[in-house]
Amino acid sequence: MISVEEALGILLSNLPEPKVEQVPFQSALARILAEDIVATSDIPPFYRSALDGFAVRAADIRNAPVELKITGEVRAGGGMPGALHPGEAIAIMTGAPVPEGADAVQMIEQCQVLDPGKRVKILVPVSSRENIAPKGSEAKAGSVVLERGHRVGPAEIAVMATFGYSSVKVFGKPSVAIFATGDELVEFDETPEPDQIRNSNAYCLSSQLRYMGIEADYLGIARDNKEELRQKMLLGLQRDILIITGGVSMGEYDFVRDVFHDLELEILFSKVAIKPGKPTVFARRGQNMVFGLPGNPISALITFECFVRPALGRLCGMTNPDLPRMKGELLANMRQSPGRTAFLPAWVTWQDDGWKVEPLLWKSSADIIGFAHANATFIFPKNRDFLSRGEIVEIMLLPDFFVRQR
Ligand code: AMP
Ligand code: MG
Repeated sequence: MISVEEALGILLSNLPEPKVEQVPFQSALARILAEDIVATSDIPPFYRSALDGFAVRAADIRNAPVELKITGEVRAGGGMPGALHPGEAIAIMTGAPVPEGADAVQMIEQCQVLDPGKRVKILVPVSSRENIAPKGSEAKAGSVVLERGHRVGPAEIAVMATFGYSSVKVFGKPSVAIFATGDELVEFDETPEPDQIRNSNAYCLSSQLRYMGIEADYLGIARDNKEELRQKMLLGLQRDILIITGGVSMGEYDFVRDVFHDLELEILFSKVAIKPGKPTVFARRGQNMVFGLPGNPISALITFECFVRPALGRLCGMTNPDLPRMKGELLANMRQSPGRTAFLPAWVTWQDDGWKVEPLLWKSSADIIGFAHANATFIFPKNRDFLSRGEIVEIMLLPDFFVRQR
């Protein structure tokens, strides 16, 4: 049985090339740039005053207090000012171009206007270049200001607007289809017979995808027979990624693997030393990727985060889409049978001087209700059978870790 790391290695070496699309710049929010954004002009485009005050020659006011003649006023957007000569001051506002001949701006608080529009006393000296942002000091025309691979947030949108980009190239989002399998399943708006349960995985997985900014097509429930599975799979293979839940175990009615063979999908792994989620299958057909996730609700959730997210995130152009990890102190003794890396539900908080990991009651990999109270999982290494209270363990944060409250 391959390890989680080996499975991930196989997965990542089988990724198709990410797609690229051109979108209006405001639609690039939360996407990944597929091109460098280059400055189309110098910013600032002129020597810019950082505050309200008087543009002066630093040399003229070296022995301040000094009286100067006011020869004009310049405001932001009020045209380019005329030149400043020795012994003169020009009133200037924040964001306005500094007149030629001036090499500093003294803030208004350090100036006393003696005769409005005529004479000003500068109370304190300034050094040359003070309170002036030189032309091109934030970006030189032609320089790369945002690199390909950079995620777009509000500041990046502002940069695009600054340089007049009306549209930009971003990595595309793969199309994704999901279906559930199982004769026992009914939908959330149906009443289960005594031997039935409601399908929860399809909705859990759709939500996990939505957290990644991807809307999946839900194809419904396939019954446990080859023909129905085959039909749904053919439909799902019209998308870039197909995610199937259930039917991958070794039970008499688990036909997903058989149908993978029938449809000539190349199975790249079919069993991983992970708990929960051992029967996870990953297959390819050309550029299509297919994930067969186990039916147990937590198994489906965990294997999505461990395998589907890293693959999908990279297809969206992310360089490191994996859930963040950190370390914390375990607050209870824990026992597990060794052999598989276990991801166990926990509530993780910052207390006193570090992250503390409170393991949550874990009935089985079916217990999604117990899992709903977790904000993280902690990792139980596969070569261990006991972790003692106080040990430092590795934590994998769930996507909404920072907004979850207890
Ligand atoms: P399977 O992987 O098909 O053997 O299913 C394993 C367990 O998960 C069984 O108890 C199934 O009833 C349950 N299960 C399978 N699919 C789903 C689903 N979509 N929603 C909730 N439970 C499921
Ligand atoms: Mg089943």
